[in-house]
Amino acid sequence: MLKQVVFLDRDGVINRDSSDYIKCWEEFIFLPNSLEALTILTRKGYTLIVITNQSIIHRKWIAPEVLEDMHQRLKSTVASRGGKITDIFFCPHTPEEGCSCRKPKPGLIQQAYEKYAIDLSAAIMVGDRAKDILCGKAAGCGKTILVQTANDPTGSITAQDTLAMDSVYPDAVVADLLEAARWIIS
Ligand SMILES: [Mg+2]
Repeated sequence: MLKQVVFLDRDGVINRDSSDYIKCWEEFIFLPNSLEALTILTRKGYTLIVITNQSIIHRKWIAPEVLEDMHQRLKSTVASRGGKITDIFFCPHTPEEGCSCRKPKPGLIQQAYEKYAIDLSAAIMVGDRAKDILCGKAAGCGKTILVQTANDPTGSITAQDTLAMDSVYPDAVVADLLEAARWIIS
């Protein structure tokens, strides 16, 4: 049973998000300090699992092999810095398909739970959008952390505002993944 698991959204948490999707490795730009954060969490004994919506697959904008290649490069880049991403679970569906794995639904975390036997009550979900926090809570994660590295246009409503309208509150709201890592290990 894995006791110290951190689930991480990908776009807007590890790498810079784009309204145009991330279609190739050249568009995969690490956010400042995110690699350092992953290294810190790994060294402190946390198992890191990425949980990401990638409707780009069923929209047929990129082939599954391209996503797989990006994820291999992500893992190897993290490894080169002393971190470890144990696994990546992605939802390939569009919203119209009504699947059970597209966040805010908890299906991806449930897939991880079935594969690794995770103590979800001790697990932490980190994301930049309301749907990440809702997914973590729906899956029974013990804690949720909202990072403020979403690439929203200035003046738009924040994820924190969206959640508050439904009286949903993350356990922490922090600037970025490095601050999240420090919150987790403290
Ligand atoms: Mg995101």
